[in-house]
Amino acid sequence: MMRQYQELKARHPGALLMFRLGDFYELFFDDARVAARELEIVLTSREVGKGRRVPMCGVPHHALTGHLARLVERGYRVAICDQVEDPRKARGLVRREVTRVVTPGTVMDAALLPAREHRYLASLGGGDGAWGLAAVDLSTGDFLATEIRGPDADRRLADELARLDPREILVPAGAVPSGGEGGAEQIASGRWTQYDAWRFDPGVARRALREHFGVATLDGFGCEGLALATSAAGALVGYLRGTQQGPLAHLRGLRVYSSESVLDVDEITRRNLELLRGRGDGGTRHTLIGALDETATAMGGRLLREWLLRPLVEPEGIASRHAAVGAALGERGRRETVRKTLRAMPDIARLVGRIGHGSAGPRDLCALREGLNLLPALRAEVERLPDARFARLAGAMDPHADVADHIARALVDDPPAGLRDGGLIREGYDPALDRLREAASGGKAWIAGLEASERERTGIRSLRVGFNKVFGYYIEVSNANRHLVPEEYIRKQTLTGAERYITPEMKEREAAILGAEERIAALELELFAALRGSVAGRAHSLLEAAAALAEADVLLALAEGAERWGYVRPEITAEPVLDIREGRHPVLERLLEGERFVPNSLSLDVRDRGLLIVTGPNMAGKSTLLRQAALITIMAQMGSFVPAAWARIGVTDRIFTRVGATDEIASGRSTFLVEMQEVSRILHGATGRSLILLDEVGRGTSTYDGMSLAWAVVEYLHDRIGARTLFATHFHELTELAEMLPRVHNIAMQVQEQGERIVFLHTVAEGRADRSYGIHVARLAGIPDEVIAQARRILAQLEAAAARPGEADAPPTPSRARRSRQLPLALELASPLEEELLDLAVETMTPLEALRVLADLRERARVRRSGSSDRRERRLQ
Ligand code: ADP
Repeated sequence: MMRQYQELKARHPGALLMFRLGDFYELFFDDARVAARELEIVLTSREVGKGRRVPMCGVPHHALTGHLARLVERGYRVAICDQVEDPRKARGLVRREVTRVVTPGTVMDAALLPAREHRYLASLGGGDGAWGLAAVDLSTGDFLATEIRGPDADRRLADELARLDPREILVPAGAVPSGGEGGAEQIASGRWTQYDAWRFDPGVARRALREHFGVATLDGFGCEGLALATSAAGALVGYLRGTQQGPLAHLRGLRVYSSESVLDVDEITRRNLELLRGRGDGGTRHTLIGALDETATAMGGRLLREWLLRPLVEPEGIASRHAAVGAALGERGRRETVRKTLRAMPDIARLVGRIGHGSAGPRDLCALREGLNLLPALRAEVERLPDARFARLAGAMDPHADVADHIARALVDDPPAGLRDGGLIREGYDPALDRLREAASGGKAWIAGLEASERERTGIRSLRVGFNKVFGYYIEVSNANRHLVPEEYIRKQTLTGAERYITPEMKEREAAILGAEERIAALELELFAALRGSVAGRAHSLLEAAAALAEADVLLALAEGAERWGYVRPEITAEPVLDIREGRHPVLERLLEGERFVPNSLSLDVRDRGLLIVTGPNMAGKSTLLRQAALITIMAQMGSFVPAAWARIGVTDRIFTRVGATDEIASGRSTFLVEMQEVSRILHGATGRSLILLDEVGRGTSTYDGMSLAWAVVEYLHDRIGARTLFATHFHELTELAEMLPRVHNIAMQVQEQGERIVFLHTVAEGRADRSYGIHVARLAGIPDEVIAQARRILAQLEAAAARPGEADAPPTPSRARRSRQLPLALELASPLEEELLDLAVETMTPLEALRVLADLRERARVRRSGSSDRRERRLQ
């Protein structure tokens, strides 16, 4: 057995081998150590002869799925070795084979896959600024390939990888590429799988693809001249053929795409804007996808994610999606009917995936049949939605009546989950099966009648016919009646109070029954496999119907969201503008329960108003305004309506953000360095069609340093790039740039002062903020009164000094201020009550208010006094 183990192990290097032994999957040697650690199961050992023991651990076969999930989730490859013959019949050692290899990128079990996300296995070839990238979602048959070239190729590759988020990336052995900026991260995540380099050879790869698709030429796939994309895709097919046993019938189409024809939102921006994952737990709760995903099916959910990851840049394509959403918006009743049916629809893409992969069970086929049966009605409703796009989608929703009918004829209504349980093929489907079943049931009926007839014949009233696994059928007679047993009975077993017998005729019948049952089981399996194979033959067109369903689902979901949240259809133009009336932040507006989200307008036009400097105190809503602009642009270009009263959006090629401090402590880079790297990326990559959001650039260094940088960045963006830019800053000095640079304008978040307090209005208006209110915010945060009061005094001194001519370039420092005795030396010198008195707006108070303030001041003076006397007493003790 160990020799068998070693042979199988050698054939699957780099994989943990789970070896079926009885009711367990066992692991040995190092595999056992790894699995014991990762699965937190007990490491034992097994004697392998001559007193030698080897480490071993195992999991019960029925618990395989959960353990497998854990190992694969952690990046391990696992080869599952099963017994491929009946142990009862095996002569000598049972034959075992590796029946599947599960790798992080080839997971098929429904329980291990996220319903609304693709799980990609990718393959990467090329290098040095010219990459070929292919990816496949084995569970749905999505198969895509692209080529990335040019000076910016490494960065775009890293972004594309981040977008696909593959669980596993194949690379030619010996050549782990840097993978651009994100390469280190990808390598660290252990996602790279080294695969035979010769498989990436263009000739070998092309042949693999031709063979897989059964075509003489690849011309139909649009990958002519794309040698790198072809070689990545071919290697991928080779790898799948090696690791998967099934026919892969669902991998029919290869979609060759260009990563350049989409709105480029890089990974940092995607994270900053929380498009798919939140910052906190990484879940989708407070994300754009969370706000938009009203889809009724998982297929729709996956497609919506794709649309969000790849918004369009072509005005006609965008407008076509908007038109369909608009049409659905006006048809509330029909929309609800369709969505109701969609909610009952199974995940056809994944079902077909399992069918094509050869891992589908009878219940999967029944689920497919039920889904297909829903299609005719659904299709009729979708067709009536008043837009050409829906007509096209309805056209693609072929209900595949013949497939549904075939499944219905072949399988019983409610088949068992497992294949080996039998009883899955319907009566009347296959004459040979029916005959066998008759034979078996005839034999059983004879045996069932045997008890009665033998009692009668022998006169033994307590005679019993039974069955057990060791002897098969037997006749049991109690000891009291032993003398009545006929001669032809053959004694087989003695119990304490009874004897068990068999008869030759009974054994003959038994053999017939068991033989028939065995053949029934084999035939059922065969018929099922043939049925599955025939459905798999239709995988391609079934997946097209599923894709149409998914798209209808997405369009209706966008209409649903638009209606529920009052979104409008944005006007899409090629002009470099971003004009939003009363825009809202799609995520925040839902979070502010009770409080109202305050809509804000924004108008950018590269030709005369391309760069807006946004000032306003902390917490006034600057970041929100910036993010809102980006989110609205992305929503518009992916085909959604937008949260605004009206919007006109010039198609954007790239969105850049430098928002907030990203936590890069783990990578060992200083926050300021990261900030500058991000700004550098923007200045190098942005074009006149980009949208740039800069929040607090220059904050991470000293004031003058930071301000100078911010200033220079604004000038560069204005003079050289001319992109639509929102620049939020706390350097109020920068607002003066509006007077020097024609296309720079100032806008400010409004606040209202009420005595010492400020109220954030969250509205934006033309103009600049003249104060930071940082001290107010500090007070809100609960900084002790004494510190606040002292900060106020220092600020007043600094402002006074800056206002004095001749001193502006030599601002006061603490030591200089102290020397000139401009600042009080100790915090205690002025009382906070005094400060408060100075701040009182006595002129506008009513007598009653004045009294209340006075009473309040006295009360606080009392508290202070008793507090300080307490302290004194404590010190005395
Ligand atoms: P800033 O960037 O100016 O420091 P933020 O944009 O982070 O401010 O906003 C601070 C908080 O103010 C937000 O978390 C939100 O609760 C609230 N806020 C911002 N904008 C609005 C708005 N338009 N309407 C209502 N509340 C808002």
